[in-house]
Amino acid sequence: MSGLNELYQQVIVDHNKKPRNFHALDNPSHEAEGFNPLCGDHFTVYLSVDKNDIIQAVSFTGQGCAISTASASLMTEALTGKTIAEADQLFHRFHDVVTKDESTETESLGKLAILIGVKEFPARVKCATLAWHALQGAIHKKQQPATTE
Ligand code: ZN
Repeated sequence: MSGLNELYQQVIVDHNKKPRNFHALDNPSHEAEGFNPLCGDHFTVYLSVDKNDIIQAVSFTGQGCAISTASASLMTEALTGKTIAEADQLFHRFHDVVTKDESTETESLGKLAILIGVKEFPARVKCATLAWHALQGAIHKKQQPATTE
């Protein structure tokens, strides 16, 4: 198992050092902020969704710890080309896997499954899900910035 953990850590380190899609979008159709006061993670997530509800681009800006940054980066990779409904489903599956003991179905999560290790650290779960909460805020046009509290 330790070899696997090492691989997971490498992916997290890589995405933290070189976050993917780390920029603002020029004309986002959706955007929302997310804030995790426990850790100080603070991101804005941008989406460009076309008229068929397909996510053409997703990006983020802001600052956070390694887990929150890597998770946001992995999220942007996972969501490009998906529909809003698929993004919603992925959010719920990911959220279940990192928060519920009985939820261990990680196959459909692809690379996001790397973050399952945070389950043992409740404070880190908030880091890992922050960008996803912001995404939910953006998709569903919530007025208040998303917060993990
Ligand atoms: Zn954090």
